[in-house]
Amino acid sequence: MTIYLCGTLPQHDVALWQDALQSALPGNDWVFNIGDQPWPALDTDTALRERVDIALVANPSPSQVAQLAALPNLKLIQSLWAGVEKLTSQPDWPRHIPLARMVDPRMTQAMAQTAVWAVLSLHRDFFGYQNQQAQRQWLERQQPLASQCPVTVMGAGELGVAVARHVAALGYPVRAWSRAGVREVVWAQGVAQLGEPMPIERAALLASTRIAINLLPLTPQTRGFYNARVFAELPQGASLINLARGAHVVDADLLAALDGGHLHRAVLDVFHTEPLPADHAYWTHPRVTVLPHIAAKTHPQTGAELVASNVAACRAGQPLLHQVEWERGY
Ligand code: NAP
Repeated sequence: MTIYLCGTLPQHDVALWQDALQSALPGNDWVFNIGDQPWPALDTDTALRERVDIALVANPSPSQVAQLAALPNLKLIQSLWAGVEKLTSQPDWPRHIPLARMVDPRMTQAMAQTAVWAVLSLHRDFFGYQNQQAQRQWLERQQPLASQCPVTVMGAGELGVAVARHVAALGYPVRAWSRAGVREVVWAQGVAQLGEPMPIERAALLASTRIAINLLPLTPQTRGFYNARVFAELPQGASLINLARGAHVVDADLLAALDGGHLHRAVLDVFHTEPLPADHAYWTHPRVTVLPHIAAKTHPQTGAELVASNVAACRAGQPLLHQVEWERGY
């Protein structure tokens, strides 16, 4: 049986992924096609085409997708990345083949670390101290209590729940919003967990939010979610941390809310166009922090373990982990 990997990986990660996957899945033949071109032998070698039963993808190009769709015995497409909107939005995506997304414990831990750093930096105004240092300014800023800084996590999935629990562990009141409603982080025998849905509307939730953390998936329903209306629902002085996808935010509305003084600051890891174009207003905005999409990366070793579990499940006819549901788009 042959496993076919196609798509684009950071150059420094290619060998790490190859080693991790081959160790986690011994006894398989492999085709590693790093880049955006189709693999010529899959068009000409009928025996090879028939042997491929699993495809691993890292944002494959449309021509690579067309080649996947023509593989006669393909049983599983496993994404190496968590977000799958670039796959589900492709019109020619082979929807009849199960698609699973990446959920990697080390990536989840990294996301929680990034969120904790951003919340602490906003609440304790460490960004302000950074600016002061540049001006050799010795000045004490206020130190409000964490209990007075309510944090809302938008999206209560794999990453949102982990972020909510880690932020709550530092003393912040944390609520998480999802299609299931609004749930508060409560403590039970020393463990932080989401409680029962609360009777609170989105507008009221946002009105009592100091820091909003975006961890929604990108779907037609969530694209452009953070617009002028949502920013107006947040109270004066609130901040946004976007760790999910750039297209969740209407950039012009965010810049207007910052420039108008309604929002305090934005910490942005993701953008409509990546890398962020050199002339984009975010780069030089005094109250925007730009990160180059590094909030949480899949780790090859733990990522390969998830891949191995799903390959085994698929070949044994068992349910897959983290299978994408086409109707909901994530
Ligand atoms: P996930 O497990 O699929 O969770 C998504 C959550 O969003 C679920 O709680 C879901 O609600 C909720 N949701 C979906 N549509 C909604 C809607 N229309 N209204 C309200 N809630 C909605 O996703 P994840 O793995 O946590 O990933 C979250 C985001 O992080 C994704 O955008 C992903 O691409 C991004 N990401 C970024 C990085 C980075 O380095 N910056 C790394 C990895 C992932 P239900 O619970 O009701 O389904």
